[in-house]
Amino acid sequence: MVYGNDNVDLAEGLFNFFLPQHCVVCFRYVSSSSGSPLCEHCLSRISFLRTPFCVRCGRPVAGGNILFCRRCRSFSFHFDEARAVTLYETPIRECIHALKYQGVLSFAPFFVNLLAEYMEDHPFLRDVDYILPVPLHPKRLKERGFNQTLLLARGLSARFGIPLLEKAVVRWKHTVPQVGLSLRERRKNVQNAFRIIRPTPFQGSRVLVIDDVLTSRATVDALSKILKEAGCATVRVLAIASGK
Ligand SMILES: [Zn+2]
Ligand SMILES: [Zn+2]
Repeated sequence: MVYGNDNVDLAEGLFNFFLPQHCVVCFRYVSSSSGSPLCEHCLSRISFLRTPFCVRCGRPVAGGNILFCRRCRSFSFHFDEARAVTLYETPIRECIHALKYQGVLSFAPFFVNLLAEYMEDHPFLRDVDYILPVPLHPKRLKERGFNQTLLLARGLSARFGIPLLEKAVVRWKHTVPQVGLSLRERRKNVQNAFRIIRPTPFQGSRVLVIDDVLTSRATVDALSKILKEAGCATVRVLAIASGK
């Protein structure tokens, strides 16, 4: 079942009806009215990604005086800045899995809140013309039934009144999952994966790309490349979590 624009609220409503009453990680009881996939204890264990991190790609770096990570010192991504709110570790990893692979759509507002709070604290992420979710290939969309980054982007668009670009870019190359691939293979895998079908809005614009997890950043980099080629002035990326 593919949730289109109009019936996703209904889908969320149905999933809410089955909102888990237990913490995704430790199975302690969680009041459904809290809207949280985590109990208080597990909420307190979230590893927020704080400084020092690479000012370009947002990856944690070891020393306090280092501006760029080792990769960004020798390689230039096409996006201007990428940031992630947390590290991709327990308990956030389990919450993302529940949303993405078990289809617990009722967790989406929890992530929208995490991302929105980060955007409140970092105004440059709100200073954009459009919000763009990382598109899924139609085949994967059919398998999964929804695009989790679209749910997040839609929530943020509504929260901040920033227009959502939902159908301007498509993922036309069906790529194998990036897990287990080397950096070079990941780059090759997502090369030319995206195609712009509505180029008009991009000329001179500032775009915020929303993703769930950043690992090698190869996917958001491939997307940023075509956005820059279409005339985007600035491409920023915000994700829930980053690998180390
Ligand atoms: Zn818990
Ligand atoms: Zn970096």
